[in-house]
This record gives sequence, C-alpha cells and structure tokens, in this order.
Amino acid sequence: MKKRFKLERFSSCIAGAVLCSAAVYAQPAASPAPDHPTITVQGQKFSPLAILTRNMGTLEDQTTPFQPHKIVGNIYYVGTKTLSSFLIVTPQGNILIDSTYERNVPTIQKSIEQLGFKFSDTKILLGSHAHGDHQEGDALVKQLTGAQVMAMAEDLPALRAIKPGGKEHPIDKTLHDNDTVSLGGTTLVAHLTPGHTRGCTTWTTKALEGGKSYNVVINCSLRAPNVVTPEIAKEFDRSFKLVRSLPCDVQVGDHPAQYNLQGKYSKIRNGGPNPFIDPASCNVETDLEEAMFHAILDEQKKAGR
Ligand SMILES: [Zn+2]
Repeated sequence: MKKRFKLERFSSCIAGAVLCSAAVYAQPAASPAPDHPTITVQGQKFSPLAILTRNMGTLEDQTTPFQPHKIVGNIYYVGTKTLSSFLIVTPQGNILIDSTYERNVPTIQKSIEQLGFKFSDTKILLGSHAHGDHQEGDALVKQLTGAQVMAMAEDLPALRAIKPGGKEHPIDKTLHDNDTVSLGGTTLVAHLTPGHTRGCTTWTTKALEGGKSYNVVINCSLRAPNVVTPEIAKEFDRSFKLVRSLPCDVQVGDHPAQYNLQGKYSKIRNGGPNPFIDPASCNVETDLEEAMFHAILDEQKKAGR
C-alpha cells in the first residue's frame, strides 16, 4: 500500500510541480513523508495522505472526464474524475470556474460541447485557488475563448508563478473579499477563505430550479498543510467559521470527493429529486478538514513546535 502511495505522489509531483510544492509534502521526494495524525470522522479513518489521495486519485483520474451533467439550475459539471470544473450558463455567455491542468482544457471544451454549449461563449474565467491542478489551464482558456480572467488579490503572486510552457498567467481583473461577478442575470460572490492558499476563494450564487431558488456554495479546498504556521492557523480559523455561515442548499468543491460527486451522481433518476440539493451534507467536508486541522495543531503543540 505504501509503495502505491509513494508512486502516486511521485506521479502527481511530476504532473503538477506547483501543487506538490504547496501540498502535504514539503520534504524531498526521496525521504518518506510523515503521514499523521489519523482522525476518525463519521466512522471513517483519514490521514493527511488519505485525504490527498482521495482528492487527486490516479493520474488517469485527473485527466479522464467525468460524465458532464447539470448540477442545479444553470450550473453544470465539466471537469474530470478528480478535478472539478464548473460551467455557469447565462443568456449573455458563460462563466467557467477552474481550468484545471492545461492538458485538461480540450477535455473541458469537449464536455461543454457535449452538453450543447459553446466553449467560445466562455466570457469569464474564475478559479478556486492558485494551485496547478485547478488553474494551470487559465492562459490556454483565455487564448481559446478570450474570456476575462478574474482572481482574488491574495492569490495573485502564486497564480503568476503558474506559467505552463512559459506562458504568462493572465489576470484581467483583481477581486477582493465579497466582490461580485455578474453576467446575464447570474451573480457570484467571491468569499476569501484562505488557509489552503492565501487567496482561496469560495464562490456562492443562487440557482433557479423548478420555480425555487437554491443557495449554491462552491467551496475552495480547506485542506491544511502538514505544518500549520500561526498565520495559516489564523486564516483557517476565519475560513472555517465563514464557510459554515454561508446559506447552503447545494455544496460542491474543487475536487469531486469533497462533495461525494460519485455517490450523488449515481442517485440521478429521471424525474426524481435532484441529489445535489442536499443541505444536510453542506458541512461534511468542512467537518473533516477542520478535524484534521485541529489534529495537526494538537500534534504540533505536543511536539513543542
Ligand atoms: Zn490545492
């Protein structure tokens, strides 16, 4: 088992230097990574590595499209098996959240077209956070669609460092906490929820379905690094509180595992209730990540760090 994890970590690092440099493992690839503490949430055991592996899956999972589908109202899933990408469709063009890896951009384009929409209608490109597995493809999306790229101020330095093939990372508009992005009657609110990255952005919007309005929360990752500095701890303390305060009927995240996409998607039945409308599951991921965050802090305190 250990060997498999090591291999996956190695593959992921090759695939996304930016992700790995900021992820759980800060030490050289040759030394074994510490994989503790272990926590139990809702009867399931998690270690930091188990959460990372759950999020990323295999290299193949990261590039294989998940069946594109409607989530709720005008919000659609167009990402891969383990990297989320969301399309918000409006009469005045579309908003894309997370380009993922650059090599996934043609896959996202295909998923958008499979749903009957045009990739060239992408007018605005947003992101969850400045890690390569979520925003490496921004320059290519802009090149192919002309979309305006908007990003949270606190993530700009890290975003500018993501330059696939030497391409400059496009930034057309800088956003700040609580800024809104509107297009064709849809408004998204950018909530600064730092910790995982400095400018980690949780997006909220309202979606209309069956004559009802639903609060949608598109979470940024809340996964803590394996060494939590006092500054990062402060950021997470604020972010956990903020995320829990958001009105929520539908919760999704930047990795499908953060909202049990597989399980919910399997419940889609013709004419049945929409499985993504599930207020009871809105904080499941937050509970897990907050428990791990506190376990890491406790461990650091005991070690006198
Ligand atoms: Zn990340």
